[in-house]
Amino acid sequence: MRPPTVTFLGGVREIGGNKILLEDGPDRILFDFGPSFSPRTEEFYVNYLKPRSTSPVKDLLEFDLLPRIEGLYSREALADADLSYRAPEVHALFVSHAHADHAGHLSLVDPEIPVFVGRGTRRLLHAIETTTPSMRYGDHAWKVFEDRQPIRVGRLEVIPYPVDHSIPFAYGFVVRTSEGTVAYTGDFRHHGPRAADSRAFVEAVAAERPAALIIEGTRAGPDRRADHTEEGVQRGIDRLLEPTRSLALACTYPRDVDRLRTLYLAALAADRELLVSTRTAYLLTEVAPFLPDGTLPVRGAARGVSVYARKKKRVFTWEEPLLDGALDSTEVRERGGRYLLALDLLHFPELIDLRPPAGSPFVHSMSEPFTEDDVDDRVLHNWLDHFGLRFHQLHSSGHASGPELLEIVRRIHATVVYPIHTEHPEAFGGTGPGARSPELGQPYPIGVPGAAPSR
Ligand SMILES: [Zn+2]
Repeated sequence: MRPPTVTFLGGVREIGGNKILLEDGPDRILFDFGPSFSPRTEEFYVNYLKPRSTSPVKDLLEFDLLPRIEGLYSREALADADLSYRAPEVHALFVSHAHADHAGHLSLVDPEIPVFVGRGTRRLLHAIETTTPSMRYGDHAWKVFEDRQPIRVGRLEVIPYPVDHSIPFAYGFVVRTSEGTVAYTGDFRHHGPRAADSRAFVEAVAAERPAALIIEGTRAGPDRRADHTEEGVQRGIDRLLEPTRSLALACTYPRDVDRLRTLYLAALAADRELLVSTRTAYLLTEVAPFLPDGTLPVRGAARGVSVYARKKKRVFTWEEPLLDGALDSTEVRERGGRYLLALDLLHFPELIDLRPPAGSPFVHSMSEPFTEDDVDDRVLHNWLDHFGLRFHQLHSSGHASGPELLEIVRRIHATVVYPIHTEHPEAFGGTGPGARSPELGQPYPIGVPGAAPSR
């Protein structure tokens, strides 16, 4: 009989776009289904230039930006495409976490295929859909999994393990096949508030003596960008706020709940109130019941957090209750020293009304730009220069560092290692005889005798 195989349909030599197909006899499951944000995609679709909503699969297949698989896409998504609709031939799709490069193409998937997500992720995806009209994940037979509780799909058994990443409810997976165990890390790190989860996952995987390890390698290879732990970010902001008497501003990723907590704790330590957008306030309220620690800046439940009401014409229904008691630019301009305002680049026109005094700090709590000629970065600095604000870079990555990744690979000691979600698979070359940079669309057998290096 044919051995089980793993096929990489995305995430090969690029950061994001993971799509991993695991087949064992008649049973076929997918892990993650996100668009890649690689330069290759951006040759064709960028910013507001997107595939047509009437024929998304056709428009992506045109440039080989999607796998050409039957029995996966919905009838609706396949409209006009030269790929015919077939009843589902994929039996389950597991989503490691709610970031777009892992979940962003779910809307194309046949609604008959069960989609497995963590309990918190289900709520998070719902909150994202509510607050971001352009984000749609589609209708699915959603299935919620519990930490470390096995799920059987035919002869495959999938065990989800929580891991630490820059979005809550991220998972790695252990998959038992008929010829050995495959582990997939999703995206993870060892230096955030849930580092112990990542370590426990690595130990559980090592104990399985897996036939294959599929590991993310975002920060493998050359990486000169500064990085801190989450605690380091807070200490940095504490130091900035201590001597500051004027308004302080910060920007971060909208779903980085850990960073929002860090901003909140820094604001509290400096006797300031954290001001967040309605979108952030909504998201935090939705996910808080799934996070046990009780230190989230949930408006109405925690002290020292309020909503900042920016000027806009249209108020959505979900925003209305959050705007009760919100502060506007007049209040924040007059008593700036009382606040730490989380302000996205998109909402920078508020600065025209806020007029923070020259020298006020702006904390960029996100990745440094990947390229020298990043447009957003240039525009951000133009605004800061115009208002005389001081720029500070303080960020903690969602991904394990290059040396940590190599250490993890050595610890797990899998027969074969497939680095994905990386531009530098070759950086894993020194980790033993089993590291192998996968080719897109090529099925790799699992647990084939003779392929194993000696232990
Ligand atoms: Zn990712």
